[in-house]
Amino acid sequence: MKEPVVIGLFCGPKKPSSAKEFLGDFVAELQQLEKGFEIEGKTLKLELDTVICDTPARSFVKNTKNHNGYHGCDKCSQPGKYINRRMTYPYTDYPLRTDDSFENMVDESHHHEGPHPFHGSSVGMVSQFPLDYMHLVCLGVVRRLLNIWLRGPLNFRVPANIAERMSAKLVEMRSYIPVEFARKPRSLRELDRWKATEFRQFLLYTGPVVLGTFLDRNMYSNFMLLFSGIAILVSPRLSCHTQYAHTLLRSFVSHFGEIYGKDQLVYNVHSLVHLADEVQRHGCLDAFSAFPYESYLNKLKRLVRKPDFPLAQIIRRLSEMRITETPLNGASFKKQHFVGPLVDGLSVKAQYGEMACDKWTVKVSTGDNMFVIGNEICIIHNIVECSDGVYVVYKEFSEKSLFFTYPFNSEYLNIHIISQTSDILKCVKASELVQKCVALPHRDGFVAIPLFHTF
Ligand SMILES: [Zn+2]
Repeated sequence: MKEPVVIGLFCGPKKPSSAKEFLGDFVAELQQLEKGFEIEGKTLKLELDTVICDTPARSFVKNTKNHNGYHGCDKCSQPGKYINRRMTYPYTDYPLRTDDSFENMVDESHHHEGPHPFHGSSVGMVSQFPLDYMHLVCLGVVRRLLNIWLRGPLNFRVPANIAERMSAKLVEMRSYIPVEFARKPRSLRELDRWKATEFRQFLLYTGPVVLGTFLDRNMYSNFMLLFSGIAILVSPRLSCHTQYAHTLLRSFVSHFGEIYGKDQLVYNVHSLVHLADEVQRHGCLDAFSAFPYESYLNKLKRLVRKPDFPLAQIIRRLSEMRITETPLNGASFKKQHFVGPLVDGLSVKAQYGEMACDKWTVKVSTGDNMFVIGNEICIIHNIVECSDGVYVVYKEFSEKSLFFTYPFNSEYLNIHIISQTSDILKCVKASELVQKCVALPHRDGFVAIPLFHTF
């Protein structure tokens, strides 16, 4: 499924006060469907996969202490320490909570009184409530870091003139951002209005390039631990390195405490030590993040045009959309031209400047023309429809060097500084494009970074 499917929709003047009441009908129905139901003569069973929430909502639906309270970590049993008017979780090796320990209320102080709303169903109250990295990492840790650098204590704060130069660099990158991204980079002056996708873009793509020039070495190295840990966990191709990402994120958290102070080891920062376990259980970070739901929720909100009867308006428009929407199959082409370049041996039917398919958009213009082909970073110069399929005409970058060497060499993530292409034009079937890259200006060349996350 490309988009969430609406099953229930609620509205009211405030958030619900009772989780039991809010979830009552759902859990009762779930218990029935878990036992089995018949459809077209077949008996099927429904299994709940995951419950995806932000942190306050997760403790609300689990009936547990929240993240600002003692015993508020929903993955381990450490008691929490109150430092400088903040609840912190300084330890990384306390016993982990399990579905059984939760049901048996082994750590009584973690729970509010009374049974949790899912009581009686087979839902695993720890394993099936994964940590969501959209709230935890993008809106949590990355925003916290930027706030420390821009507005924090003087010993960590980036001077105002440097912050201005960082903003200018971010804005300069706007024309190099592929169409797959919902937003282009904005100035740090607009930080309070940045959305989760902008923090993600900063963490995984623009941040490593911008910060390398301007940030103190120690703080940059710490940021790179976070970057590389999350780049691995978000990338389906790198799932074999999940355990290594765990080591990187643990190092990030302990260095973070040493650099910025133990009072900064709040719930969001601490939870990074549990994130690799979630990936081990549920697949890459995007398989259980709030991103698709948050973006669908925005789409639903835009369906409300008048203040009266918002639910009725949404339901009516959703059913209209279901009838009119037709799925797109295969690739679509735009910007037909006749100017090449071409390579010998192609039986050309048509040439295009743009091709969109399920995986990505390929263009011959800046921002959408960098791809990995084989093992090389390449720039696309033409898209050619031939009698035996669609080809791209490209040049390889002949000069490339490492972008970073800590915590490992950037080539392991296929990240390189690129400057000069070879003179030789080559061609390959478009189906052989391995990965789209974003290439961001850096000194005299570019840093090419593969698109890690799924769109
Ligand atoms: Zn914990």
